[in-house]
Amino acid sequence: MATLALSGCSYSPCWAGCAGKSTFQSKRKLTVSVAKPSSAGGGSSVTAVCAVGGKQRSVPELNEGIATFYNESSGLWEEIWGEHMHHGYYDSESSENVNHIEAQIRMIDECLKWAGIPEDEENKPATIVDVGCGIGGSSRYLSEKYKANVKGITLSPIQAQRATALTAEQGLSNSVSFLVADALNQPFADGEFDLVWSMESGEHMPDKRKFLQELVRVTAPNGRVLIVTWCHRDLKPQELSLTPDEMELLDKICDSYYLPAWCSPADYVEIAQSVGLKDVKSADWSEFVTPFWPAVMVSALSFKGLAGLAKAGWTTIKGALAMGLMVQGYQRGLIKCLVGNKPDLGKSFHMKMLENR
Ligand code: SAH
Repeated sequence: MATLALSGCSYSPCWAGCAGKSTFQSKRKLTVSVAKPSSAGGGSSVTAVCAVGGKQRSVPELNEGIATFYNESSGLWEEIWGEHMHHGYYDSESSENVNHIEAQIRMIDECLKWAGIPEDEENKPATIVDVGCGIGGSSRYLSEKYKANVKGITLSPIQAQRATALTAEQGLSNSVSFLVADALNQPFADGEFDLVWSMESGEHMPDKRKFLQELVRVTAPNGRVLIVTWCHRDLKPQELSLTPDEMELLDKICDSYYLPAWCSPADYVEIAQSVGLKDVKSADWSEFVTPFWPAVMVSALSFKGLAGLAKAGWTTIKGALAMGLMVQGYQRGLIKCLVGNKPDLGKSFHMKMLENR
């Protein structure tokens, strides 16, 4: 599951190249971010260092950590939760008996509805890229829904293999395929996809500007980009940074889930605008995702979950231990998810926040 978290929230605005004030004011030595002029101009982009909790990870180290994390943990996740590795969408009256896998599928549908992805024959997406595809749950769902050709990319070879096997089992190999590839350097032509889909992978990206630029690059004219990702809360007008205990919480989450610096919803909007997108909007979906992490914790504590964890490597166990931190992050209003949609290349970009207050 894409878990996200941050620590680097403290320095994210800098490396994201936002015009907003930097949230990094901490005296702790956990951050190294070196801004350099963006080739696109008007900003800076992150270089190769991501610091978390006193550790420093270069981008290759980060990516290797992400690949290892998902190589190790995806099997257990699939066994307990199935093929989707993202939040569920819940009604406010959702009871304990809610079917969480249905809630995850509903999350996809609600995002598509919110983004206004057309369903009619003439306008529905025919080509889709699933950026950070996990084991391909969204890829297959989107392919079936729109009868589209879908390509999924992940850093984890084990996920790509499993995604390919599941796709064959479900008879979708002619229209859905997977590659191990980096979202920041996608092996696709400019304008290849009608729909660019990133469901809870953006939090792993060490350079949010480059990430958005790459998403825009592979989008067809009049295509759409839909992003769901996690952010830390926006700073209040008088604030210069998150609080030290917020940063500490996010540090721990980043360490466990191989996340680089986070940014805020406001930062994301600025980045989106800085890569030439207009009409950015946002919304708060916190009430719709709140039941998710407690449910994940319950399944980890089930017999199946504990048995799986007992066999799992330290990376997976550490990820499981960090689930409580995620719950805390949501409860404190620190962690937010963001959904963005770009309905028309270069013209507009709508964003929706799933934020917990
Ligand atoms: N979107 C999927 C999986 C989310 S888990 C789902 O909803 O089920 C996060 C995914 O992001 C993992 O598959 C991980 O490998 C991928 N990821 C993280 N960083 C990436 C990068 N730089 N390039 C490509 N994929 C990346």
